[in-house]
Amino acid sequence: MTVASVTVTLPDGSQKQTPAGTSIGDFVRDSIGPGLAKAAVLAKANGIVVDLSRTLDDDTQLEILTTKSPEALDTIRHDAAHIVADAVQRLFPGTQVTIGPTIDNGFYYDFDRGQPFTEDELVRIEGLANEIIAADLRFTRSEVSPEQAIEMFAGKGEKFKVEIIQDIVAKGAKVLTLYSHGDWVDFCEGPHGPTTGRVGVIKLLSSSAAYWRGDHRNKTLQRIYGTAFFDKKGLDAWLKQREEAEKRDHRRLGKDLDLFHFHPLSPGAAFWTPKGTAIYTVLSAYMRQLALANGYVEIKTPLLYNKGLWELSGHWGKYKENMFLVEDSEAKAAGDPDPHHFSLKPMNCPSHHLYYGFRKQSYRDLPLRLHTQDVLHRNEAAGSLGGLTRVRQFAQDDAHIYCREDQIAEEVKRFVKLLDHVYNAFGLSYSAKFATRPPQRIGDDAMWDRAEASLKTALDGLGLAYELKPGDGAFYGPKIDFDVSDSIGRKWQLGTVQLDYAAPERFDLTYVGEDGKPHRPVVLHRAIYGSFERFIAILIEHFAGAFPLWVAPVQVAVVTVTDRVNDHARTVVDRLAAAGVRVSFDDGNGMMKAKIRDASLQKIPYTIVLGDKEVETDQVSVRTFGADQQKMETMSFDAFAQRLAVEARFP
Ligand SMILES: [Zn+2]
Ligand SMILES: [Zn+2]
Repeated sequence: MTVASVTVTLPDGSQKQTPAGTSIGDFVRDSIGPGLAKAAVLAKANGIVVDLSRTLDDDTQLEILTTKSPEALDTIRHDAAHIVADAVQRLFPGTQVTIGPTIDNGFYYDFDRGQPFTEDELVRIEGLANEIIAADLRFTRSEVSPEQAIEMFAGKGEKFKVEIIQDIVAKGAKVLTLYSHGDWVDFCEGPHGPTTGRVGVIKLLSSSAAYWRGDHRNKTLQRIYGTAFFDKKGLDAWLKQREEAEKRDHRRLGKDLDLFHFHPLSPGAAFWTPKGTAIYTVLSAYMRQLALANGYVEIKTPLLYNKGLWELSGHWGKYKENMFLVEDSEAKAAGDPDPHHFSLKPMNCPSHHLYYGFRKQSYRDLPLRLHTQDVLHRNEAAGSLGGLTRVRQFAQDDAHIYCREDQIAEEVKRFVKLLDHVYNAFGLSYSAKFATRPPQRIGDDAMWDRAEASLKTALDGLGLAYELKPGDGAFYGPKIDFDVSDSIGRKWQLGTVQLDYAAPERFDLTYVGEDGKPHRPVVLHRAIYGSFERFIAILIEHFAGAFPLWVAPVQVAVVTVTDRVNDHARTVVDRLAAAGVRVSFDDGNGMMKAKIRDASLQKIPYTIVLGDKEVETDQVSVRTFGADQQKMETMSFDAFAQRLAVEARFP
């Protein structure tokens, strides 16, 4: 009997023949090469992520996922959860397993066990887990009927597993998959890596109590958090970054540097201290100046709207839960059963569209670029609020550009140049993602062809490298998103420019063209900071609280050697403040050294020290934050003021 052969098509379009039934792992080793076989963790067969042990039974589009792919890292963390559960059951027989999903940066596993895991026990579990890695056991996949699975797990006394299987069967599952390594077996959907050895290293991070199915009426379980990496180098780099991130945590620095507060009586809305307000104001003024210099006009629009606006924009149907509704007392008095006719605006776009309609627009008026920094409210779930990164009240450096279709490429180019300038000003590097038409969308293909071509023309014209995200665009148009990398290598999604063909239709926006006839404009939604609140959180962590002079909430601290010169110090403070410098003077009873140290803890860019000599000569002794403790520069007051004026200039 001859074995039929199947055609395998690789991502570069090349095709190879292999006997039907060959495992993907064997195919890679024999038909592609040992290098790729060694790096391979998973495969995508006809778009579906599968184990390397799966066989090639039909013609297949095949992509190999190596240790470099995010899916592979997630998979070895799932492998690691199995390995940890195996280790726990070997060390503590009688412990029952429940679930062990992967999460951002790692995984957890919940166990049913009488008492919490101790530090010592975690060390032993981690040790055994890493021995299981060293044993390089193969992950084996098998399919069983629900009855077989229930019998097997019931026989092991795993009542949580039985409950999960019964749930899945109730939803209609006919076949279940089991994954085993060595003698340990779990039922899950997979996929898994080829062997335990492919998980380079497991690190357990903490343990805590958790409830079965997250419900406090259920049994208390013991959760172990951990992470896994392909090698120790990756783990060490991550641990170091985590430690650095904890030191820079904006919630902690917000307290230490006295920048903002939160109060439970206004959840998710910050109280800004004078220092925090200074940062906010600088960022706002900087963006306003750039916007006005780049052809935008600034407008302010109402905060509160009748629901008619949200019905027009489409938000009332889809987004109502995220809006704060306001009762109309007249409607209530008239007996309206649902008198919540008003809502605080969660975004500026619909109000800008109304504004556009106030006058008859001509092709000569376009592009019209409207910039607004108004306060916005979104009703985020109470449980999801945290620091400045997830808030209910915020403002954006928002703008909407109304233009003709033939102006899109130029407008996008202008926007990206502005964004590039701003991110460079803060020392943030960035990368672009170009998201194209999704399956569910408005408009015809010709419209999408033109829209995507405009964005591509802009990106190519800028010579900007980008990652293509097919299908990730919004239903109303394609977009470009920007991720910034901070000083410790973390990525944050910040800026965006999105084409919108739907809003002009909904709001019936028109302009009179050269032909004297009405035409539809296109709207570009765009932001660079995103929200001021989140951007400030990112800046605090990026700079670890040591802001460059032009952003620093206090730019100069004044310290005196003796009380005799305090009056002179006050005149220095006044002269600096009059020149627009943000300056503080501590004339309390503390020691000079302690005051200098305090200024340094507050990460104030310059501390000037004044004594008798400085008073006589109108000089200042200047200490720069982060420079050598002993190093002082003495210069005339005017020279120092001149230096500040240069450094405080907006970049
Ligand atoms: Zn699994
Ligand atoms: Zn918008």
